Amino acid sequence: MKTELLCWFAAHRRSLPWRDDPTPYAVLVGEIMAQQTRLAQLLPFYERFMVRFPTIVALADAPLDDVLAIWAGMGYYARARNLHRTAQIICNPPNTLANDTHHKPQPPTPATHTNDNSHTLPDIPHTANGIHWPTTKAEWLALPGIGPYTAGAVLSIAFAQREAAVDGNILRVAARLQNDPTDIATPAAHKNATAYILHHMPHTPDTIRLFNQALMELGSLVCTPTTPRCTDCPLVGYCQAHQHDRVHLLPIKAAKKPSPRIPMTVLLIFAPDGRVLMTRRTAGLLRNMWVFHLVQGETLDAPAVREYLQSQGYSLHKIEEITPLGTFTHTFTHRVWEMTGFAVRVNENLALTDHHFRTPDEITAGGLPSAMRYFMM
Ligand code: SF4
Repeated sequence: MKTELLCWFAAHRRSLPWRDDPTPYAVLVGEIMAQQTRLAQLLPFYERFMVRFPTIVALADAPLDDVLAIWAGMGYYARARNLHRTAQIICNPPNTLANDTHHKPQPPTPATHTNDNSHTLPDIPHTANGIHWPTTKAEWLALPGIGPYTAGAVLSIAFAQREAAVDGNILRVAARLQNDPTDIATPAAHKNATAYILHHMPHTPDTIRLFNQALMELGSLVCTPTTPRCTDCPLVGYCQAHQHDRVHLLPIKAAKKPSPRIPMTVLLIFAPDGRVLMTRRTAGLLRNMWVFHLVQGETLDAPAVREYLQSQGYSLHKIEEITPLGTFTHTFTHRVWEMTGFAVRVNENLALTDHHFRTPDEITAGGLPSAMRYFMM
């Protein structure tokens, strides 16, 4: 099976920056970006990110605002916050912080390493340019935002360790290859897929690096969710679902509960000089991002907006005009914001607590989250 899969991958693989040059940092950034963003959409973000933060040290040393600004538009901002924090921890492991050894090179790792399911592997450096990268899955899983998929992807692709990297694509492919009727949202399905992949994974470093990537690519290009191209599949001879004519029935996925819908009023408060009032979210979705003024949990109409602003310190004579901007729905992973927007023109630059007036250019440069962009147009 692995021979057919790797031959197919050699012929059909798409070029990706972290695939073509799989340094630990490139794989870490690329795989985190790829988790909830399509490749075509993320590649320009990836390029900009790597220009601005070319090394993990540059990322660790950057202010969080700069990281969020580069990430703006890609969504799922917890990924950016966690990646930034992870970079800081890798560059400043807790046992070096106390000794003020910021970015100090660490002793080299032993020339060989093993894990539970591996043979002895040749020297693959975990220390480079003064950074000591985590060497085990447990160490990776202890970092913010690093789950089993990312840990497995970095360890297998960058360090050639025999670890599975199981995401939605791989769950689907593994369920079909095994004709496994387990609900793919359950831990049991994850366990089945992991065991199956490790059973078939090769043992030489070069092929270990490629195996997970080949399965991911097969899931993206051939074994797709709705129209798998079994006649083009290199694994058709091994596929139990195909042999039992059950491809169209797999994978099994229980219906998700609908996400809660949160009403939200979005206020673009324009000062006389054209600047817009912005606030930094301190909690919840879009935490640490600069957004327009939000009235969460309420859909206000224009008179209610006026009343609300009065309650926030604007006297009536300061509010010149309130103009509806329409409605927009933004879907997050587990929430839907149903937003109603208004442009409010005021005749003095009175700021609400924890807000700042910014020009449209400053707002764009600072990175406006996708959820807000509709109202900026
Ligand atoms: S034969 Fe079809 S269902 Fe089976 S792995 Fe290949 S594409 Fe997927």
